[in-house]
Amino acid sequence: MRIVLLGAPGAGKGTQAKKLIDKYGIPQISTGDILRQNVAEGTPLGKEAKSYMDKGELVPDRVVLGLVEDRLKKDDCKKGYILDGFPRNTAQAEALDKILALLSMSLTGALSVDVPKDDLMKRLTGRRTCKGCGQMYNVYFSPSKNESVCDKCGGALFHRDDDKEETIKRRLDVYDAQTAPLIDYYKKSGILKSVTGVGSIDEIFSKVCNALGVK
Ligand code: AMP
Repeated sequence: MRIVLLGAPGAGKGTQAKKLIDKYGIPQISTGDILRQNVAEGTPLGKEAKSYMDKGELVPDRVVLGLVEDRLKKDDCKKGYILDGFPRNTAQAEALDKILALLSMSLTGALSVDVPKDDLMKRLTGRRTCKGCGQMYNVYFSPSKNESVCDKCGGALFHRDDDKEETIKRRLDVYDAQTAPLIDYYKKSGILKSVTGVGSIDEIFSKVCNALGVK
């Protein structure tokens, strides 16, 4: 399985990607996670990326493309991968096609997770993530037992800097303008599948597996 996950911020791509990893043992490549790790470690790349991320803007393509190419060349991607949050615009999608052609590992699918806009806002403002294992919670829909502690590993939960209301609005606008056109891009290449990302996590996951044609 070599897939791209598409969907607005808050559509639940990361949650579904984690379930696919658990079930199929293939890596999730989340450019957002890689960038946040660089920000946390204070690398030069992280310092550059942070100024864009804090505003809800996309980090320049030249930064992101290098990260993805390096990651796709790692051995664990030979058995498949899930690209989560990448590509984010047409230039990235075209560059990805070129990288994958060189590596002889073209995409087997692009899955769009569609969620109505009104739901996205609540999902994003309520989102909390575990520093330890990356498990996600939502204070409105799926809270942890203790507000600031992960049920799974006991790690501390945090509210992402870019999950604040103003930044969220900008991220949703950037999605509409730059990322949503990729739905057509992959429709034209004949690999697009879509699911409605509403319902319980397990219900959505079973729709995801059906759409991808896996059990
Ligand atoms: P995410 O966790 O995927 O919502 O990404 C958080 C932020 O990281 C985005 O708002 C962007 O600023 C940046 N980012 C993540 N992936 C990309 C990408 N493929 N291209 C450009 N910027 C990205």
